[in-house]
Amino acid sequence: MTDRFFVPEPIPAEQTQVVLHDQEAHHLARVLRAQVGQKVVLIDGSGWEFVGRVVHIARRRVVVQILQRRQVDRELPREVVFAVALPKHARQQPIVEALVQLGISRLVPLECLRSVARVDDKTLGRLQRWVQEATKQCGRTRLMKVAPAQSWSAVASDLNRSADRHRLGLFVHPGAEQSLWGLLQGQNPQQWESIWAAVGPEGGFSEQEYQLALQHGWQVVHLGPRTLRVETAVAVVAGTVSLWLQG
Ligand code: SAH
Repeated sequence: MTDRFFVPEPIPAEQTQVVLHDQEAHHLARVLRAQVGQKVVLIDGSGWEFVGRVVHIARRRVVVQILQRRQVDRELPREVVFAVALPKHARQQPIVEALVQLGISRLVPLECLRSVARVDDKTLGRLQRWVQEATKQCGRTRLMKVAPAQSWSAVASDLNRSADRHRLGLFVHPGAEQSLWGLLQGQNPQQWESIWAAVGPEGGFSEQEYQLALQHGWQVVHLGPRTLRVETAVAVVAGTVSLWLQG
């Protein structure tokens, strides 16, 4: 596969050349030892892919001439949002990678009673960089959004705030009566405008957080009789929802 590079600014349709800077330029020139004439694919997060050719290589700057522009859609047919109480730093990257690869639209870091990670601007910047890397790897042309951290009470109560909203909320909780699989089998994806999933911290959601989910119409679902780590639970839920939506 041709190497893919991320350009942080949208590339206008009439533009014929793009300059890669910093890390992307370094990666292309030094790590991959690109030569003038080599083909590359650029993405800008807008849903387009740009096939180009390297025309100039400098230390921290690579110029690419655009040869072709094509619209590529590798998104899910519905918006899917994941609210996740993130584990500590070292275990966050696999979560971002799984969500991006499985087509998820947005990640909302969740603040719960038993949350472990503090999600400040530095953390958000790091999460966004991982999103870019995973996007290049998996061939998506749109970026998964990373929202600022929100409290569970804010996310829970926002699910069906107005009567015209049709959001399916999945509150993923061990010991629930119904399984995620069982619930989705009885549902038609067409009927929902978006799907929301909430995965709790290593210590689990509190009783009060569980009550809040029930109160606001979330469907409480389990993933089987074993306790999964947060990253495994995220991957299972994202994979199941993604396959269900794609048919
Ligand atoms: N001792 C905690 C376990 C938390 S595991 C408890 O009993 O709640 C961390 C998160 O992963 C949970 O909050 C839940 O969202 C998800 N999770 C892990 N294993 C699960 C399972 N078997 N069923 C449903 N959710 C699970």
